[in-house]
Amino acid sequence: MEDFSSFVTYIKNHDNFKGTITENEALAQKSTFKIGANARVFVAPEDYYSFQLTLRRILAQKLPFFIVGGASNLVFPDDDFQGVILSSRNFSDAMIFPKGDLPEDFEAYNFQKDDVLVTCFAGTPMAQLVDFCIKNDLTGAEEFAGLPGTVGGAAFMNARCFEKSLSDIIFYYTWMDYSDPDIPLHHERINPADWDYKKSPFQNNNRFVTTVTFLLKRLHGDAKMQIAKNSRKYTLERLEKGHFKYPSAGSVFKNNHDFGAPSGKLIDQCGLKGTQIGGAQIAPFHGNFIINVENARASDVKALVELAQKKVKEKFGFQLETEIIFL
Ligand SMILES: Cc1cc2nc3c(=O)[nH]c(=O)nc-3n(C[C@H](O)[C@H](O)[C@H](O)COP(=O)(O)OP(=O)(O)OC[C@H]3O[C@@H](n4cnc5c(N)ncnc54)[C@H](O)[C@@H]3O)c2cc1C
Repeated sequence: MEDFSSFVTYIKNHDNFKGTITENEALAQKSTFKIGANARVFVAPEDYYSFQLTLRRILAQKLPFFIVGGASNLVFPDDDFQGVILSSRNFSDAMIFPKGDLPEDFEAYNFQKDDVLVTCFAGTPMAQLVDFCIKNDLTGAEEFAGLPGTVGGAAFMNARCFEKSLSDIIFYYTWMDYSDPDIPLHHERINPADWDYKKSPFQNNNRFVTTVTFLLKRLHGDAKMQIAKNSRKYTLERLEKGHFKYPSAGSVFKNNHDFGAPSGKLIDQCGLKGTQIGGAQIAPFHGNFIINVENARASDVKALVELAQKKVKEKFGFQLETEIIFL
């Protein structure tokens, strides 16, 4: 039997823990889908040491846990989650990597004039990264304007927006290895072979992403005006496509080149747009979005996912793979 009370007491009373810890925390309002019951414990550390401390204790007590960033790709369960939600929400900042402070393995890289490294803590909202780039005349991240969620979540998912994957601008990252009870911190220059469409080295790997460093370029003169302009253009395109009309977790299924058409189109061709189960609906305006129209439950979303998979399999022979994650 898990002893959550002793876990909470330990963390709360630890002199070196910085952050928040609460019990029986409602999850629905914390997710973009607005679905889910409570988490037995919700902990949001503020610094490296507090994450290490929390993860060490979770492992020592063998508590079930789940890492959450902006919860924009997640479906929280209808029943209470009997475990610890470890949130990066309080671990947020973006800064230019100090020039005189490059690690040795950076030295070998042939930096060009105007290359700028920007480091973000995992919980930094993607919107904050884009704003930081606009303020500092940095180009490279505009396509991610309007993407909900955090830098850590986007790295885990290798988010892809307007034909650009996050890995296209990642240079370096740090993570904590929670397969080791000491929770050591590792760092690595990006190895493109570890990344692919919606694939990252963090998936199925017991790694908590702590920072991500992006390689961006500084623009000058009139050219720098384009950064804000393009960022606005991408955000507007999302608005026009209806992304924020209803609570959702974005695209439900991954695309697959072998299908010859986007997953949303296949779902549309099965006549499923507008289909509703309980309070969840396949968006009438986007075949690959499931929206929460009226107090949807995770089970409603799951039923729609299974329906779309069944119909697409019957009609086209393709197995749709989910992108959203059910906790
Ligand atoms: C309206 C809307 C539009 C969207 N459009 C797009 C789009 O264009 N392209 C796209 O790719 N996605 C899109 N999404 C999905 C979602 O926003 C992205 O997948 C986003 O990058 C997830 O980030 P997050 O912080 O919310 O992650 P979460 O949803 O909190 O978590 C997602 C996964 O990442 C893990 N995780 C989170 N943080 C960490 C960390 N620090 N270390 C280790 N693991 C971590 C979680 O355990 C979970 O498995 C959209 C979502 C919405 C609601």
